[in-house]
Amino acid sequence: MNNTMPRLRILSLGAGVQSTTMALMAAHGELTPMPDCAIFADTQWEPKAVYEHLKWLMSPNVLPFPVHIATRGSLKQSILERRNSTGGRFAVVPWHIVNPDGSYGFGRRQCTSEFKLTPLMWKMRELLGVDRRARIAANSVEVWGGISTDEASRMKPARQQWQQTRWPLIETRKSRRDCESWLQRHSYPVPPKSSCLGCPFHSDAIWRDLRDNSPDEWAETVEVDRAMREGDARGFNGVEFMHSQRVPLDQIDLSTAADRGQADLFDNECEGMCGL
Ligand code: SF4
Repeated sequence: MNNTMPRLRILSLGAGVQSTTMALMAAHGELTPMPDCAIFADTQWEPKAVYEHLKWLMSPNVLPFPVHIATRGSLKQSILERRNSTGGRFAVVPWHIVNPDGSYGFGRRQCTSEFKLTPLMWKMRELLGVDRRARIAANSVEVWGGISTDEASRMKPARQQWQQTRWPLIETRKSRRDCESWLQRHSYPVPPKSSCLGCPFHSDAIWRDLRDNSPDEWAETVEVDRAMREGDARGFNGVEFMHSQRVPLDQIDLSTAADRGQADLFDNECEGMCGL
């Protein structure tokens, strides 16, 4: 237990089921004290439904505290531009790779840190009124993370000594299903799944849902997947794919995932931590 009083209490808002429930529970006075604000770390590559849900959360009379958006720009654009540049280093997303010798591998996961955690940290510094290098006293910011009991293994200590982490859904023993029940009981909409459109952790159920219910977003994602294998100027010789089958997205057989009992590798919303 940390007894230092934080200068700022922020709720890390992924805009999925868990963090939405946490924010609305705070609004109902079921979690105290009230956070000063929420921060949505935006990769600018979420489904339209997530942005619509976020817009609702930010509309008057939903939450009694402000929601800030923190971003370093578009992850999709970064993926596409890196292909056309000569100075790239590593894959920013943990793509499924076929190495030159035919063996399989994964790209490094830099997207979580670069496009979620860093903008979140910069926004917290901005709210504290300090620049990006200034020293901050220990435990100055309390960060609420939306991790539920069914994913407790994802809880991690704060990365910065000036942050202290709180897990309100763990404290109140809420699973993802409990969160959905809470939302329904209070007549709130159940939020869509929050994660990047082309996240390589998607299960086939998510890919199928995207293909069948959001044809425009599916077409756009297929296009990014195709572009990833063109004009690679980074000196890396492997071939990268979004899908774990390591074939182009529009050639995947998505019809029998349930029959094969495929596990969902990304059963949790991103929530700023991408399942880490
Ligand atoms: S949702 Fe996936 S692609 Fe997006 S930042 Fe998280 S791990 Fe990376």
